[in-house]
Amino acid sequence: MTFTNLTGARIRQDFIDFFVARGHTFVPSSSLVPGGDQTLLFTNAGMVQFKDIFLGTDKRAYVRAANSQKCMRVAGKHNDLDDVGRDDTHHTFFEMLGNWSFGDYYKKEAVAWAWELLTSAWALPKENLWATCFQDENDMIPRDDEAANAWRNQPGFDPTHVLFFGRKDNFWEMAETGPCGPCSEIHIDRGPAYCDMQGNPNHTCRVNGDCKRFLELWNLVFIQYNRTSPSGLEPLPAMHVDTGMGLERIVSVLQDVDSNYKTDLLSPLLDVVQGLTGQTAKERAANITPYRVIADHSRAATFLIADGVVPGNLGRNYVCRMIIRRAARFGGKIGLNKPFLASVAEKVIENYGEFYPELIRNRKTILDNITREEERFQHTLESGTAKLSALLERLSGTSEKVLPGEVAFDLYATLGLPLEITRDIAREGNLDVDEPGFREAMEKHRLASGAGEAFGPLGGEDVEIYSSILDELQAASKLGAEGVGYDPYHALEVEGNILAIIRDGKVVKQAQPGETVEIILPETCFYIESGGQVSDTGWIIAANEPSWEIRVNDMRKPAAGIIVHLGVVLRGSPCLGDQAIARIDAQRRHDTMRNHTATHLLHAELRLVLGEHARQAGSLVAPDHLRFDFTHPKALLPEQLEHIEAGVNRTILEDFPLNIQFKPLQEAINDGAIALFGEKYGETVRNITIGEDDHISNELCGGTHVSETGDVGLFIITGETSAAAGIRRIEAVTGRSAYELVQKRFRALKQVANQLGSSPEEVPVKTSEILDELEETRKQVIILKRNYAWLNFVRFFDLIETVKGVSVLTAVLEDTDADTLRALTDRFRQRYPSGVIVLASTGSDGKPIIIAAITEDLVKRGLHAGDLVKLVAAPLGGSGGGRPTLAQAGGRDASQLEKAMSIVKKWVEIKLS
Ligand SMILES: [Zn+2]
Ligand SMILES: [Zn+2]
Repeated sequence: MTFTNLTGARIRQDFIDFFVARGHTFVPSSSLVPGGDQTLLFTNAGMVQFKDIFLGTDKRAYVRAANSQKCMRVAGKHNDLDDVGRDDTHHTFFEMLGNWSFGDYYKKEAVAWAWELLTSAWALPKENLWATCFQDENDMIPRDDEAANAWRNQPGFDPTHVLFFGRKDNFWEMAETGPCGPCSEIHIDRGPAYCDMQGNPNHTCRVNGDCKRFLELWNLVFIQYNRTSPSGLEPLPAMHVDTGMGLERIVSVLQDVDSNYKTDLLSPLLDVVQGLTGQTAKERAANITPYRVIADHSRAATFLIADGVVPGNLGRNYVCRMIIRRAARFGGKIGLNKPFLASVAEKVIENYGEFYPELIRNRKTILDNITREEERFQHTLESGTAKLSALLERLSGTSEKVLPGEVAFDLYATLGLPLEITRDIAREGNLDVDEPGFREAMEKHRLASGAGEAFGPLGGEDVEIYSSILDELQAASKLGAEGVGYDPYHALEVEGNILAIIRDGKVVKQAQPGETVEIILPETCFYIESGGQVSDTGWIIAANEPSWEIRVNDMRKPAAGIIVHLGVVLRGSPCLGDQAIARIDAQRRHDTMRNHTATHLLHAELRLVLGEHARQAGSLVAPDHLRFDFTHPKALLPEQLEHIEAGVNRTILEDFPLNIQFKPLQEAINDGAIALFGEKYGETVRNITIGEDDHISNELCGGTHVSETGDVGLFIITGETSAAAGIRRIEAVTGRSAYELVQKRFRALKQVANQLGSSPEEVPVKTSEILDELEETRKQVIILKRNYAWLNFVRFFDLIETVKGVSVLTAVLEDTDADTLRALTDRFRQRYPSGVIVLASTGSDGKPIIIAAITEDLVKRGLHAGDLVKLVAAPLGGSGGGRPTLAQAGGRDASQLEKAMSIVKKWVEIKLS
């Protein structure tokens, strides 16, 4: 085998440089949080950010791309968590190298370049490389001879090294329907020494076999079909290439090590851990699982937090919390009992920061969040594991080998032990956890807490009909190559003839009043929902006679090049080809624009007041209000909110112009523009700056804005709440809504002032005077009530009985609170130096309250008020306790109160005999 001195970073860069030199555009990794894909927890493959191109709903300025994509696989179908730490190859976070052709080059070039990079640039021995190609075991899809021949044609490729495999290994599908195609994999034979099944007589080393000798390096996917049904495959008009090569794996091969954890991508992290433990190399080897888990999980957590995913209770945030806690627990196994993961994360930032600058930008946030989470976990780890151990011990004494999911969830909800850690601990004792039960309990809890649905359905099934409309319109020269024109930035109305009317998913020639329709025009000025800003509404009306009118309620871009206006025919019968005027609801649009500009000002002000970590995590820009979610660990103080509100209003009054420029993405980022995570950006971006040279705000944004900040009018924060773990939400209004709010509040204030007989300015003083007075009155009422109770109570003294020489009084009083009952027992004890008293009443909720008191001398003789009160409360379905001299209990059922009290005398008698 060859040896190279290439570092992991060099290998990543080599890959990208190689393809850039062959006409590919380098596309930076998209966020670990998939943009616009509600069905996916994390980006789990390089193709996630290009998916819409394959589906035909997106187009890019380039047809060849290369990237190194950050991926996470910890949930759902691709869940490698169980194996992480146990072996050399599985990770939660990993990098995927890929080169892409969108309807450009195909199999021949993809194969040739893969061969050239592996064998020339990286000098892997040609005789050790094997290629697999697709052959359908069901004989329904043609054999991929095109790929096989491409391999056989490579210089130095052993033609006998092409092998064919079936659907499981060599056919790729995105989903049950949609783009799909054969794939071709390159495997390397690392030599017999790498076989880990040598002792097994039935074992033969082979490609796609079960030992470590043959390793799959690179998967080339050729997207050439569209699956319409389980048996229906249609050729795609444009064929694509999608390749994937795990960076950790190729680095392990090129650095000739038998474990990903021995590559320079991960071994420095293990070194940091070893430095912290002070263990020897031998001890490290003996404890390799904790080392691997810590290295893997801290790397993943570092990248997650850089992408805005902070530790929390649900979804992605839960995953971040879980891996930090899991790493911390494994740290405990090798003696690391204080927060330590930040030092591992620092190494990650140092080693990966050059290629992934978001790590450097978010350094402080990353380190703070990790340490804070470790600290939080330490508070509960001991009690959590102690409780779990007790539960498991009880379980191991029975035939039951599975810890119920509800119990596991309870451990998480009350003691912060994530399922994965509970499972780790259970497995260490050869027990298991009911995971579906855990998820069910979590779901129940989530619904009960009103957190709503985590993931919605996947859309885009109807791409085909719109694509065929586009094809027809283009063939008839009614639309150009770009499809429907889109410019929401200049005019408020456009004129054009109706190119298509769609009703119930079908193209029609004419629509009738009352019908819901979709209208396609040559161009539109209506904004389509994106970046949080809602779609425009408005009207489409006939430009000529006969007149008709459509109310437009929504906008949609169902396929690349197609924009539809969704609306209802108000009157008349619009026909295909009619000349039409599309007019935006201008007032609604202006309200929306004020809120959008205010959103940028708010974002900037939050960063100024709270710090750079306060980053956008979600946004809604509607006409009547704006909602802005941002990362921040705790609730804002009222002073902070006031400060932020004042800052935004100051900027509004300065009346700064908004500068809008189109520039290359990289240039904008270099100029300090804020790009949003989870957003996709093209090559050219729209950059909006506010203020002079030293911008107050600098963002990439496709939204519509006012031209000067003064147009926003007035900005008022209406609420600040928690949106999710580690994410705060501010809601605010501007312009007309702000004025309406001020008006409403003034009206309320004036009304209160009138009622108080004061001026609005005097309301606070006047109110606190009244509240003081009310408080004083309440106190007096309590005293009066108590005196009254005492006067009433005195007559109960006739009921006092003497039991074994002590005074015993039991009584049920009407409508008396616990405080008063206690005061009465005090007075009893003052008057009777040796006695037992139990008083009961029914509280305002109809449930019994019981107070028992015992004098000191009887306590010395072994009587305890706590025991007594428990005894009385038991038949009432209640419980309680307290000190030996005074105890209190509650109950559920007041009907048995009198009967329950009768036990007191007997109890005293028995206790004193
Ligand atoms: Zn083998
Ligand atoms: Zn914006």
